[in-house]
Amino acid sequence: MIIDTHVHLDDDRYIDDVEDVLERAKSANVAAHIIPGADPKHLQRAVELCEKNENIYFSIGVHPYDAQNYDEEYLLQFATHEKCIAVGECGLDYFRLPDDEVEKKDVVAKQKEVFIFQIELAKRLKKPLIVHIRDASSDSKEILLRYGAGEVGGVLHCFNADEQLLSLAEENFYFGIGGVLTFKNARKLVQVLPRIPKNKLLIETDAPYLTPHPHRGDRNEPAYTTFVAKKISDLLEVPLEEIESITTFNAKELFRELKEVL
Ligand SMILES: [Zn+2]
Ligand SMILES: [Zn+2]
Repeated sequence: MIIDTHVHLDDDRYIDDVEDVLERAKSANVAAHIIPGADPKHLQRAVELCEKNENIYFSIGVHPYDAQNYDEEYLLQFATHEKCIAVGECGLDYFRLPDDEVEKKDVVAKQKEVFIFQIELAKRLKKPLIVHIRDASSDSKEILLRYGAGEVGGVLHCFNADEQLLSLAEENFYFGIGGVLTFKNARKLVQVLPRIPKNKLLIETDAPYLTPHPHRGDRNEPAYTTFVAKKISDLLEVPLEEIESITTFNAKELFRELKEVL
């Protein structure tokens, strides 16, 4: 079985057919789903999905693109929900910064501030972190280390194959591998994959985004984790069943509250 450790089932693109999506995931052996917090206005929908479906869990947090909407009081209302198992997705994303130097500085400062708030929150709640890093590896690593994020650990979701992040494996960090691994231009990730300790590998879709080959261009969905698992199995020359059991074990190690229920 597979756990999709990062799937935005609360996205508008699933509103009409989420039941079908979940049915196909079940047929593909996906045993559980984690919905990361991204845009706070979707949080209520994430909670509804969790309450309707035994095998869906969620996390409270704010994506770096939504940093200006960070409201800890609001997030805390959901923190004690029995299916809230992590904090995030939080982190730094410098991919789309404004051109204006002053504005750029403000955006970066805000992202950093809100990232740090969420690390502190995770430590207070004793929940692991779901971390989003894009074009911001060194700043992100520096913050994770400086604020002692290893105390709760977490996943570097959609791992960007940056070698400087590999040492975070020793700080209780896991590496989320998704559809990007199946892309023709994923050379870097293909090279770095064998250097990730096997006990730190996780599978995710980041659906509806980053649809794996051969479905690129379509909306992504949790059933497609099978393409990612197969690709990891081929590249590492480890049987598929073993990849599934290793990554499921790892997900339960990190998201400790899953261990009691799965
Ligand atoms: Zn992300
Ligand atoms: Zn995401």
